[in-house]
Amino acid sequence: MPTALPSLFVSHGSPTLVMDPVPTRDFLRGLGQTMPRPTAILCVSAHWDTAKPLLSASPHPHTMHDFYGFPDELYEQSYPAPGAPELAERGASLLQGAQIPAEMDRRRGLDHGAWVPLSLMYPQADIPLVQLSIQSHLTPRHHLEMGQALAPLRQEGVLIMASGNATHNLREVFSHGLDEAPAPYAKAFADWLTARIVTGGADDIEALLHYLRQGPFAPRNHPTPDHYLPLLVALGAGIGEGNGAGTSSGAGKLLHDGYTFGVLSMAAYAWN
Ligand code: ZN
Repeated sequence: MPTALPSLFVSHGSPTLVMDPVPTRDFLRGLGQTMPRPTAILCVSAHWDTAKPLLSASPHPHTMHDFYGFPDELYEQSYPAPGAPELAERGASLLQGAQIPAEMDRRRGLDHGAWVPLSLMYPQADIPLVQLSIQSHLTPRHHLEMGQALAPLRQEGVLIMASGNATHNLREVFSHGLDEAPAPYAKAFADWLTARIVTGGADDIEALLHYLRQGPFAPRNHPTPDHYLPLLVALGAGIGEGNGAGTSSGAGKLLHDGYTFGVLSMAAYAWN
């Protein structure tokens, strides 16, 4: 019987995170060793946004360089982890069992939302990997429910890892230095997020679903929902299917708290 794995949310920041000398890079480099070794990884990335949920099912996913205007060195990075088509099928059937129509995509590669953090966490690239897409036109609750449907995978030794950003205003990133102190509006949202996550009661989960109205400066921190929604998948996978009747706690842990460019909270959370 494989060891149960936590579900995880990490902030991936700029693709240059793999070479920037910042505390988040060091945190991610150590993170793999703090958990049992997964049999496989299911990664929900902010950078794959589709009409309906898709699971990547290529046996050998290629590395995508889905960003523009960065140093050449980044376009030479590859992360040759094997795919896991059987895990993609299992994930699709769990989602379908929860009345969530999901399909497989046999050609999709790995976007940088997946490979930037994973190349730090598991540099050997030897753990089979599947990506799951988000649906930014659908509700926050849809994403929570996807995570809840996928929760049984944790008992099968699969690491459910969501990759987005705790705060993510890209337009404001490039007017700040890499090591700048946190902007008050970003810190206010990230601190609110952490407080809701570590308390994890039913009201906190509702607040996380209604983040745009309840989170401080939420529209400025998340002008688009794509980097927030993965967090709700990790939360759903953390609380499992029993939530709503007070049967299981939704409390998570803050694993890492840092900033890049003053406006990107690089917070990471885990649910055990
Ligand atoms: Zn991103």
